[in-house]
Amino acid sequence: MTTKVSTKLGHLGRCRDLQPSFVNPPVWRGSTVLFPSLRSLLSKDQDYNYGRHGTPTTRALESLLKELDGPLAHGVHLTPSGLSAVTTAVLSVMRPNDHLLVVDSVYQPMRAFCDTVLARMGVEVTYFDPRLSSGIRNLLRPQTKAVYLETPGSQTFEMQDVQAIAEEAHRVGAFVIADNTWATPLFFRPLEHGVDIAIQAATKYIVGHSDALMGVIAANSRAWTAVHDMHSALGLSVSPDDAYLALRGLRTLELRLKQHERNALTVADWLEKQPAVAQVLHPGLPSHPDHALWRRDFSGSSGVFGVVLRPSPFPCAEALFDGLQLFGMGFSFGGYESLATYVTTEGLRTATPWSDKGHLIRLQIGLEDPEDLIADLSAGLERFEAARECAA
Ligand SMILES: *Cc1c(COP(=O)(O)O)cnc(C)c1O
Repeated sequence: MTTKVSTKLGHLGRCRDLQPSFVNPPVWRGSTVLFPSLRSLLSKDQDYNYGRHGTPTTRALESLLKELDGPLAHGVHLTPSGLSAVTTAVLSVMRPNDHLLVVDSVYQPMRAFCDTVLARMGVEVTYFDPRLSSGIRNLLRPQTKAVYLETPGSQTFEMQDVQAIAEEAHRVGAFVIADNTWATPLFFRPLEHGVDIAIQAATKYIVGHSDALMGVIAANSRAWTAVHDMHSALGLSVSPDDAYLALRGLRTLELRLKQHERNALTVADWLEKQPAVAQVLHPGLPSHPDHALWRRDFSGSSGVFGVVLRPSPFPCAEALFDGLQLFGMGFSFGGYESLATYVTTEGLRTATPWSDKGHLIRLQIGLEDPEDLIADLSAGLERFEAARECAA
């Protein structure tokens, strides 16, 4: 019966079998699970056997998340942060002397993990042009164990042709891993485009209220055993309180995403017309170089995008940021409130250059009235222009 996503978000993951009366599942706390007999203690197929392996609250969340990633999701694991979902997914398939291809626009902490932990493990990492598409075949080697994607990149917003890349990767037997934090499965279902392991920072849109950290790994049947074994071996678990918050966030995910989308497009459209702005990096805008790819594969856009300002000395960016009233200055995104961050372009790329000389800022457009947000940005751009004139 629960076929449409809005209905699933309202009805699944409610533990109706364990407590039929209240609408929401309780926060089930527990490490130890007691068994009625020695036989059941030693049995391998109880529903619950130890808190680290899951409680009714975390299982409720997993079951709803698995539905969202679609029928190709063989299983879902929760991790204590988005970054731990990234690193667990990668560790689950990489062995010493393997080769890993990573998109050059990748989330910076993933790059740090590659350059430290994976390097120490003897894994060779090659970063590739985010717009390479099937040209990736020239970089694939017999030792290539996985290709890592993030589309769009959460700092510079290039999109990848996931299907074309997955086809090439699978030809040499490599896994495809994709970070789907920006779109969530409501706007893009990676497993249906050839991805084997899809991860999300649930911290962002799923939790949605800037009050908990969590990661999600969804794997297809080919990758599931590897992911499951690594997740167990690392001893990862999430608190039932955070699982409850993520479940609560999911109930309004579709509504919030649609509002983030509308608000972000309104603000992005306005920014494109401002003389202080050199470029707006939003795949949902027709001016974006990957707009056609976004239209082909995605059913919506979220609330995060980049803005390149006209080249100017650093104090001009300071003048813009330091007087913002509604935009908080801080990392992360996906909460109900708007945020602005400054992206440091130094060391951002190693395979493809980032040649824009202007300051790169990233905006998360929250659920506030977009007119108020535009007024805040408009005042910011006036301060920016005034500082630029002084500097000239
Ligand atoms: C935030 C983020 C992560 C990491 O999530 P945390 O919960 O902060 O560890 C990973 N990937 C992307 C694209 C992100 O935006």
